[in-house]
Amino acid sequence: MKTRNDQCEVHGQYERRLVEAFDGASKVVGCPNCYWESIHTSDEQSQAHADAVALKRWEATNVALFATGIAQRFRACSLDNYRTDLEGQAVALDLCRAYVDQFEENFSVGRCLLMLGNFGNGKTHLGCAILKAVVTRFGAHGLYAPAPDIISAIKATFNKGSSDTEQDIMAELSSVDLLLIDELGAQGGTEFERNSLHTIIDMRYRKMLPTIITSNLPSAELSTYIGDRALDRLRENGGHAIAFDWESSRGGGQ
Ligand SMILES: [Zn+2]
Repeated sequence: MKTRNDQCEVHGQYERRLVEAFDGASKVVGCPNCYWESIHTSDEQSQAHADAVALKRWEATNVALFATGIAQRFRACSLDNYRTDLEGQAVALDLCRAYVDQFEENFSVGRCLLMLGNFGNGKTHLGCAILKAVVTRFGAHGLYAPAPDIISAIKATFNKGSSDTEQDIMAELSSVDLLLIDELGAQGGTEFERNSLHTIIDMRYRKMLPTIITSNLPSAELSTYIGDRALDRLRENGGHAIAFDWESSRGGGQ
């Protein structure tokens, strides 16, 4: 966020803010006193009130979107800009849209979503798009966590002088409304790694919180990787597994 001194005709000098938007654009936020008055004392039917309320909502959503931790590369990903040249892509998109449309019910029963299949077919794109949509539409607290980053973060807590503990990391991962674990199985897969991911899935299952998993492991290997029981939990309550099984057209990427 950048600030700059500016002059309000009513309130005199103030710091004008330039707020970085999650999707890359920026928004200028004017006099804070005008804003406060528009929210609290102006006529509720007035344009100034409507604009101030819209700005307040926009800022709250913008902060929540940054809090997802979605990497810069995937910030622009949405359900609307996912390409559906192939039938499989259209089916995948429909299932993701339905997951968002029914998020209140999915959240209430902890219904998960598995996105399985070839590298480069847009699993991360759609996972991030769902996360952004539920944060924006439902005010959910979402978190994007590539599996290798989860493991690194846990291992970093073992260093002397680390300010976080393993419990801190686990507590955050097991409490957000929707967790996207990306690239499950992409890393080597030591017993420690498998156990850590299994534990996160299990903790969220017990709290009835939904998790989205992307993986390019074939489903037989996925069950070996996280265990049959964790896989069953992810598929419980009608949790879909979306197959991204077409040949990648881009030869890499998401
Ligand atoms: Zn003012």
